[in-house]
Amino acid sequence: MSLPGASGGQPGPQRSTDQSSTITEPARAYAELTAGNRRFVSGSPRHPNQDAGHRAAVADGQHPFAVIVGCSDSRLAAEIIFDRGLGDLFVVRTAGHTTGPEVLGSVEYAVTVLGTPLVVVLGHDSCGAVQAAREVAATGVAPEGHLGAVVDAVLPSLRRAAADGVEDIDGIVDIHIAQTVEALLEQSSVLADAVTRGRCAVVGVSYRLAAGVVRPVAAVPADVASLGVSDGPSTPAAA
Ligand SMILES: [Zn+2]
Repeated sequence: MSLPGASGGQPGPQRSTDQSSTITEPARAYAELTAGNRRFVSGSPRHPNQDAGHRAAVADGQHPFAVIVGCSDSRLAAEIIFDRGLGDLFVVRTAGHTTGPEVLGSVEYAVTVLGTPLVVVLGHDSCGAVQAAREVAATGVAPEGHLGAVVDAVLPSLRRAAADGVEDIDGIVDIHIAQTVEALLEQSSVLADAVTRGRCAVVGVSYRLAAGVVRPVAAVPADVASLGVSDGPSTPAAA
């Protein structure tokens, strides 16, 4: 079978796009995401690219401007918290945003085939996967079934946190997000190469469940997250 690619005609039905398909710069993509998050937080989402016209327009090709490697937590729906729509975000989710071959392959597909300029690791406070790993580390009792694979993937972050003297759960979550950014770049030479060439950036953000706000905790290159973290107005390009 063939995966849907970026190519394809642009069909004629009326479009309601906000031109996110033209975003090719990492910093611009990050600014677009944070602008959407500010709309969501303020209670004034625009729900862009969610109507029937746009659905038809993107049927033959996709140009997502960001890959989201997020935790599977049900309160972390990317299109909602970033106020985006169809064709905007290429989303890969696992409990605790753990990475493995399928995750890496999915990220590489978006970056190389679809030309997506930004990869965002999306973690959150009170993450159950991190809490489960901490429980295992404290008790030595391994979980049943495949949940052990999730815990095993989080344990290196717990060891890093312990080495740094970080004990609170949300501090550990921040470290785990940063560790996931590092892991993506270490395990995917394809992604690392795209970042080196300036075609892509990787940013780790932490989401607060109650407030709905995302906060950058790691970025490669470091300056890519400098846009969009201020409390200034949304970028003019946001629809
Ligand atoms: Zn989680």
